[in-house]
Amino acid sequence: MRIDVLTIFPDYLAPLSLSLIGRARERGLLDVSVHDLRRWTADVHRTVDDTPYGGGPGMVMRPEPWGLAFDELVPVGTTPPRLVVPSPAGVPLTQALAADLAAEPWLLFGCGRYEGIDQRVLDEAADRMPVTEVSLGDVVLFGGEVAVLAVVEAVTRLLPGVLGNAESLTEESHTGGLLEAPMYTKPPVWRDRPVPDVLRSGDHGRIARWRRDQALVRTARRRPDLLAALPPGTLDATDQLA
Ligand code: SAM
Repeated sequence: MRIDVLTIFPDYLAPLSLSLIGRARERGLLDVSVHDLRRWTADVHRTVDDTPYGGGPGMVMRPEPWGLAFDELVPVGTTPPRLVVPSPAGVPLTQALAADLAAEPWLLFGCGRYEGIDQRVLDEAADRMPVTEVSLGDVVLFGGEVAVLAVVEAVTRLLPGVLGNAESLTEESHTGGLLEAPMYTKPPVWRDRPVPDVLRSGDHGRIARWRRDQALVRTARRRPDLLAALPPGTLDATDQLA
């Protein structure tokens, strides 16, 4: 997958060289380029913002650098990328959206700052590529960079070959609609707290049942909205919610 990121703070994206994303890049599974939006400014101050029409506090990102950046990164005649723009007004980032984005060959991210990007940038971009505004949650951040890191991480771990054990993708929270059961590792007793006996029993049937029960109870308590959204037939007669 190819990923391009447009930002006025390229250093903010340094974690894209670390850990499993860095490894995926080294292995050629991911081709990441981070671009400084100010490269497409022409004035001595490399200005990217201006005051909002209609008044109000803060500044808005001017359209020209964005337009020039898109022109250069997405030349006419090429199959365009999907443009992903972090925004508190976007669709919530979910595992389903991450899977959808992971199926794309090329993602182009545009990081907003200040009070956001001039709306015409998004409108014009939508004439030449699919555009998805994505929200990290009902909260306001300083800029889109942290959201891009989160989206790239969620997407990268879904790419074939990135995770050593692909099974971990099928058995985790937000994949089957339930939150994952609590996990334990060694030692068997830590600060007088033992690991649940069943997990050390070696009885795979009982362990699976216990994990399913824990997942159901956890989801019912913490995220009843997820439980309510399960497709009919997901729960069976042996499932208990308390
Ligand atoms: N004035 C905007 C509003 O009220 O919707 C908020 C602008 S915010 C200070 C600056 C930038 O941070 C946004 O353009 C967006 O790129 C990013 N951002 C802020 N909150 C976000 C969130 N919850 N999800 C994704 N991106 C966010």
